Amino acid sequence: MQQRRATSQRKDPRRCCRLCGGSRLSSVVTLHDMPVSHALRRSAADPDPRFEITFESCERCGLLQIVDTVDPAILYGDTDTY
Ligand SMILES: [Zn+2]
Repeated sequence: MQQRRATSQRKDPRRCCRLCGGSRLSSVVTLHDMPVSHALRRSAADPDPRFEITFESCERCGLLQIVDTVDPAILYGDTDTY
């Protein structure tokens, strides 16, 4: 099965903490080739986008978060089963 890497991942130009607005974020872990959860394909020929998800920790408040998000149209598109 061939997998396609999606390019619809958004880099937040502000790059700040979602909780306190702090600008010092440190990368904790990156997960590669992550599929969209709860998105069921109707056939094997349907796209199976994969994303790189990086968790970052705020140095001010400690919140662990994903700063660069996947386009909501992909997460909650017509294949969304949730
Ligand atoms: Zn923070």
